[in-house]
Amino acid sequence: MSDLRELRLADYIPRPSVELPGSRVPRPRFRCVDAHNHLGRWLTEDGGWMAPEVGLLIALMDEHHVDAIVNLDGMWGEELSANLDRYDRAHPGRFRTFCQLDWNLLREHDGIEHLVSSLANSRTLGARGLKVWKTLGLHYTGPDGRLVLPDDPMLAPVFDAAGDLGPPVLIHTADPVAFFAPVDRHNERLEELLANPGWHFGRPGLPTFARLMDALEGLVTAHPRTTFIGAHVGCYAEDLRWVSRMLDEHPNFHIDIAGRIAELGRRPRAARALLLRHPDRVLFGTDAFPLSASSYPAHFRFLETADEHFPYSPEEEVPPQGRWTVSALDLPADVLEMVYAGNALRLLQ
Ligand SMILES: [Zn+2]
Repeated sequence: MSDLRELRLADYIPRPSVELPGSRVPRPRFRCVDAHNHLGRWLTEDGGWMAPEVGLLIALMDEHHVDAIVNLDGMWGEELSANLDRYDRAHPGRFRTFCQLDWNLLREHDGIEHLVSSLANSRTLGARGLKVWKTLGLHYTGPDGRLVLPDDPMLAPVFDAAGDLGPPVLIHTADPVAFFAPVDRHNERLEELLANPGWHFGRPGLPTFARLMDALEGLVTAHPRTTFIGAHVGCYAEDLRWVSRMLDEHPNFHIDIAGRIAELGRRPRAARALLLRHPDRVLFGTDAFPLSASSYPAHFRFLETADEHFPYSPEEEVPPQGRWTVSALDLPADVLEMVYAGNALRLLQ
């Protein structure tokens, strides 16, 4: 017993003693579209496809009544064509591949022109939207060597072009708030940051989290005719009041819930209220890659049941995004139907 006084937190795995029903929800109540996933080649270690066997992927989609997946990994040029050939064209209706932009071009003096023509070219090839990653604001620099934030006026022609061309811009700005906070004993995602030191952005020379959220709002405000989808609960799942205000004030702003069950499920009443207030502006998405047999049921359980106090990542002994459990949202049918597919199909047509 006394030895246990020296037990390290990392080794402490308490088991809850409350008796709770555990619902299994292998299929959603309505057909669904996963509006945030990665099926391409740029995120794999060996440069191979994220889904090596498309047939197995489609079988998994059929098993869980997933009508379509948005593949955010189209990149540009030949890589975009390879993604479109492999997914969208080979399996009509089942995939919607988004393009990205080579923001390295920002350093060149005519870079913006090249980015605008790259976007138009990708649209012609068949891209169904534009994905903008957190590196815009945290990594890419302009001709003067300074970081380019999403609201930089120099980017305006790119986002105007996105509005003219029609398809939505799915944007991920910043990262979890804790990744910008000091890495110390108060950081709620300390274990994750210790395992992945490169995910910490709270250092001199980088914008603060608050500055990045201002940049996101500035971008959305400056381009009212461009449709934006703020990834990961509008990029600020820790502050649902901020997200709700963004949705109130900017009709061109939408959100997906990808990768944020842990955040939404630790304040299920506020999360449910957000979805009930804006049922037409929230898109189902998982960001679960590579997809596994448990990916979709975990999400369906979270959205549909009233289960309480369960692990948001049941395969892992220690919760990977902070040591807490979640409670589910128990969403009504009309909201589920819009969030699962209706909103995505409207924005992605
Ligand atoms: Zn993602």
